[in-house]
Amino acid sequence: MKYVETDNLSEIKGRMLTETETFVFRCHPGVSCFNLCCRNLNLFLNPYDVIRLKQNLAITSDQFIEEYTDIVFRPGHHFPDVMLQMADNEEKTCPFLSEAGCLVYPDRPQTCRAFPVEHGLYYDAKKDKTRLVHFFRPPKFCQGRHETAIWTLTSWEADQEASFYNQMTVKWANIMQLFQNDPWGGEGPNGQKGKMAFMAAYNIDAFRDFVLNSSFLKRYKVRAQLRIKIKSDDVAMLELGMAWIKMFLFGVLTKDIIPRR
Ligand code: SF4
Ligand code: SF4
Repeated sequence: MKYVETDNLSEIKGRMLTETETFVFRCHPGVSCFNLCCRNLNLFLNPYDVIRLKQNLAITSDQFIEEYTDIVFRPGHHFPDVMLQMADNEEKTCPFLSEAGCLVYPDRPQTCRAFPVEHGLYYDAKKDKTRLVHFFRPPKFCQGRHETAIWTLTSWEADQEASFYNQMTVKWANIMQLFQNDPWGGEGPNGQKGKMAFMAAYNIDAFRDFVLNSSFLKRYKVRAQLRIKIKSDDVAMLELGMAWIKMFLFGVLTKDIIPRR
């Protein structure tokens, strides 16, 4: 999910898709470009992507962040991005690419599921509203667009089992939008608050340890059902993490967590 910051959506490359428009595409091992798209990528990972990948690899979120990602601070952005680190070989292949295809296919990131469609969150300044926009833009070498299967956004999402990924990505994108304002009070994203917020979003095992083994639950009242689930459910932990970031940094209260008096 990207932010689309433009007054003119027609400036963006690719064909913009409405909910009802169709596109033609099919990827399979028989295409001459098989696996060509899984290399030399700027592959941004959302918090839910990290949960699925670390579960697939049976490692902790800490290990995953350490071994597989680069943390990138982009100028003008107030929260770091997490990018999948490509392999240190000539072609800079994805670390999960094998000759037979993707080694983490059931848990591949949202960007890989959506490809060759890109989703964006477009902020319409005139209406002061955010909405989802979608672009069909396969790279030139992608032969899948010359196949015959026809899709809508809905049928493609169902085929790629991307529905829950998209829901989680929209939730995260809405938080990222809050970060258009600098919440750090001068200490920057590398300060103590920044480290805590990063942990709450991306290092879910460390955040669980912190929540369950500190005074956190004495200081904050967590919704009862969520409080039960966070002990073993990474998605519940991420829901709490996102609600906490909103409250802790931006003063936005949700039903998931409130400060105790
Ligand atoms: S480039 Fe397109 S058709 Fe080729 S492997 Fe990638 S997604 Fe499939
Ligand atoms: S995660 Fe899988 S689908 Fe995505 S780039 Fe890597 S190998 Fe390709």
